[in-house]
Amino acid sequence: AMSLYSHAFSGNPLRSGPHKTPESVTPESAFLKLKTLFSADRHESHIPNFKVLPFRKGKPLAGAVSGPRWRLGWLNFHEFLGHFGNPPRSVPSEDDFVYLGFNHEDDAVYWAVDTSEEGGGLSDELGAKQLCFVELRTLMVATDWTEAKSMAELAVAGHAKSLLEWHNTARFCGHCGSATVPVEAGKKKRCSNESCKKSIYPRLDPVVIMLVIDRENDCALLSKQSRFVPRMWSCLAGFIE
Ligand SMILES: [Zn+2]
Repeated sequence: AMSLYSHAFSGNPLRSGPHKTPESVTPESAFLKLKTLFSADRHESHIPNFKVLPFRKGKPLAGAVSGPRWRLGWLNFHEFLGHFGNPPRSVPSEDDFVYLGFNHEDDAVYWAVDTSEEGGGLSDELGAKQLCFVELRTLMVATDWTEAKSMAELAVAGHAKSLLEWHNTARFCGHCGSATVPVEAGKKKRCSNESCKKSIYPRLDPVVIMLVIDRENDCALLSKQSRFVPRMWSCLAGFIE
């Protein structure tokens, strides 16, 4: 049953704002810890509570749990490196990690990493855990909208996907054309040209969706695009321009 009072991809439980995040887990301090983990003395450092969500070609890692329910395939830092960071695969660096936020419930810092470049298949262990890369819309239709945990996971995955997509497309400065580099743990980017240094922020696309109803005649106005499969209709939706 669909509740019209909940919205898919909303209600992200992760916090990333400067006033909502404890000092020790701000993007900057979390990124410093991440850097230490990648440095040579990583075994000596305290292992922070990091949860990493790998993506491939826009699809998050996910798997089924009891019955029809699903969960995102969060890995801890070492699990992630074990599955995705071993030669001959290209080893990810701290700059590949995008900060998603901090969760007060489990005291963990959440990250997303695009592993599309890495190209290899999924490791046997991940396959054995029944994890695979799944389209977000597939997860959305598989979600019980009354189950808060799945709705929260969907919101986190949606946020992560949009951030990673933005990192993929905002590769060059719109002002001078030089390459951009991630800063503040991927929360923004900056032009690498020293005389420009323009800051670039994630793109927000305001969109709207609505259901127009005719109460008197008990019907609704739906639309159909030429690319839709047969029998598929949708509410009116689009960008706000
Ligand atoms: Zn520039």
